[in-house]
Amino acid sequence: MTRITVAKGDGIGPEIMDATLKIIKAAGAKIEIDEIEVGEKVYLSGNTSGIANESWDIIRRNKIFLKAPITTPQGGGYKSLNVTTRKFLGLYSNVRPCMSLHPFVETKHPNMDIVIVRENEEDLYAGIEHQQTDEVVQCLKLISRPGCEKIIRYAFEYAKVYGRKKVTCFTKDNIMKQTDGLFHEIFDEIALEYPEIENEHWIIDIGAAKMADTPEIFDVIVTLNLYGDVISDIAAQIAGSVGLAGSANIGEECAMFEAIHGSAPRRAGQNMANPSGLLEGAVMMLNHIGQTEVAEKVQNAWLKTIEDGIHTYDIYKENISKVKVGTKEFAEAVIENLGQKPSILKVVNFSKDAVLTLPKYEKKTPKNKELVGVDLFVHWNGTNPDEIAEILQSINTENKELTMITNRGIKVWPEGFNETYCTDHWRCRFKPTNGKIMFKNQIITLLTRALEAKIDVIKTENLYEFDGKSGYSLGQGQ
Ligand code: NAD
Repeated sequence: MTRITVAKGDGIGPEIMDATLKIIKAAGAKIEIDEIEVGEKVYLSGNTSGIANESWDIIRRNKIFLKAPITTPQGGGYKSLNVTTRKFLGLYSNVRPCMSLHPFVETKHPNMDIVIVRENEEDLYAGIEHQQTDEVVQCLKLISRPGCEKIIRYAFEYAKVYGRKKVTCFTKDNIMKQTDGLFHEIFDEIALEYPEIENEHWIIDIGAAKMADTPEIFDVIVTLNLYGDVISDIAAQIAGSVGLAGSANIGEECAMFEAIHGSAPRRAGQNMANPSGLLEGAVMMLNHIGQTEVAEKVQNAWLKTIEDGIHTYDIYKENISKVKVGTKEFAEAVIENLGQKPSILKVVNFSKDAVLTLPKYEKKTPKNKELVGVDLFVHWNGTNPDEIAEILQSINTENKELTMITNRGIKVWPEGFNETYCTDHWRCRFKPTNGKIMFKNQIITLLTRALEAKIDVIKTENLYEFDGKSGYSLGQGQ
């Protein structure tokens, strides 16, 4: 018996949750349920996080959380409960299988069967944003080695346990050489540990285009948070409907399972919604807690029901479907089919060990880190890079020199182009003149002199080498 936390959510949430629980219980799921209230009511009672502290205690104690979609009220100030839950509980992996159900659900891609493994905690989702000058704001993209190792290993382990043949990595490392570059580098490292699984890397733009055009050439796709967010919705939609896809959010301690769609408030309370997305989330949950036989039974009965043409309104098509049913009737039909298998769609056969056990991240030996320069970011309203270069050279002291100025990343000094548009946000790079090493007190001197000269330094970024390897990007055009 596994004790799980359940939240019925808002909109269509309670109906699809009731249907899902009824099906998995009828299939023999050994679960005990603690129900908590999250979402709209909690938000509107004045709790901006949408969840009470006592509910966190229950989620953390049970570790397994099955959550229906919730409505985030309009207007500012309400924090997304999904993002908070993923981060608080360290749910680093977001797994979204997207499979077409051809010829029973209309799709342009009859042979599509992919699983998107999306990094769930890092990237631009860290939410670290600042306005730095009148004209420029920034968002920090943070990528960590533990974050990459965990998600990439998860993708390969998933492929191994679920009999998948290939893992594809999507990044934009031709542009973001440090951040996406690290993700790609670690992908190549970890791929070596799984010689039986094919691996490949695509640049995200062409990779996404290819996925939308010929998804059948992909199997498991692993990618960074933002790209994964975008491509998993596309994948679910082109497979047939966002209403059919479930999602698992997995961490080292806890896990949360849900549908990928929202609370569809316009459909609420009418016994219309398709419970399949949440049911698919529940099947992943059953696999995760080791109840693989029950998961298999539910999945095959669900496939059989879709094959029988028993469809809710969202996938109902005159020439394909047989009966249009409501949420409750669909659930009844799946229950009727428990123990049966589909005859045309692929029968699932979850292996006994469809449970992923990943090693904890092991800290690496720190590298030899050397300070080799500094970038001063300056708010300056002029337009001629030669002028700001002259001002900065005037505050420079011995043993270091101004080597480059960029504006929005493009080199504008020395030898910039007149055509390059310059904002009020200038990055000015100083490097040591004698030898390679810079000292932190040289940066302090530089900042003190900038202050005296009324130069508005809005931030500094230290330039490091790690074991002799450059830890910063060059200016574009440098
Ligand atoms: P949505 O996914 O709720 O609905 C979009 C449309 O898709 C609906 O109008 C409906 O026609 C269809 N649809 C979605 N799920 C369906 C189902 N199970 N069966 C049949 N049809 C279905 O997206 P939205 O309208 O943009 O968002 C509504 C609310 O849901 C918002 O408050 C949003 O913040 C929230 N939301 C919550 C989650 C979550 O809790 N995980 C995720 C996304 C959106």
